[in-house]
Amino acid sequence: MIVLSADFVKSATDARGWPPAGPDEFAFCGRSNVGKSAALNALAARKSLARVSRTPGRTRLINFFDIRAAEKTRSGGRGAEHHLVFADLPGYGFASGKRAETVKWREMIEEYLRGREVLRALIVLVDGELGAQPSDVEMVRWGESLDHRIVVAATKLDKLSRNRRDQQIDRIAGQLAVPKVVGISAHELFGIDELWREMLADPAP
Ligand code: GDP
Repeated sequence: MIVLSADFVKSATDARGWPPAGPDEFAFCGRSNVGKSAALNALAARKSLARVSRTPGRTRLINFFDIRAAEKTRSGGRGAEHHLVFADLPGYGFASGKRAETVKWREMIEEYLRGREVLRALIVLVDGELGAQPSDVEMVRWGESLDHRIVVAATKLDKLSRNRRDQQIDRIAGQLAVPKVVGISAHELFGIDELWREMLADPAP
């Protein structure tokens, strides 16, 4: 994908703060520290669109980004253009785990998942080294129960030896009971185009 522009739009805590419904939206979620900011930066081909390495779990806002991108043709030219929005959801599974915070997080995400009509897919990022955690399973089931298309990506795969990567991807797909998991590395920049393709693919009939 060739990213033509990537701009921060705004942050919001609730529906009143969301930008007006516009282009198709893709929401990203995952446990704190999963590599979500790095993955967003890699997808947007920007060094610091989403800040990397905030204090885990401190950000309790949904951040919206406006993205324009063009597909790469076989000859390396510019193909079909896409205008879309990335919604960066606050991470879950934060270690401090104060109950009141967890409840607030849940309400914020629930309002978004139920009320955002332009949401086209929920991208659940799972730590590729660690494998899926119970909170990841819960997130996937939650998204599915609200009829959202789920795309799962396993992050930080550069940390695994090449011959373990496919094995770990299969394991995570099994843990989450999903048909496909895209393996990515934001550091070595592999799997990023595949994730783009998966996000934009038409949902299975
Ligand atoms: P977030 O809390 O989910 O937004 O996670 P960050 O993107 O801030 O990343 C958390 C930590 O994981 C940082 O120390 C990153 O450098 C590291 N990290 C993120 N992506 C990768 C990756 O693809 N490979 C490796 N090896 N480390 C990564």
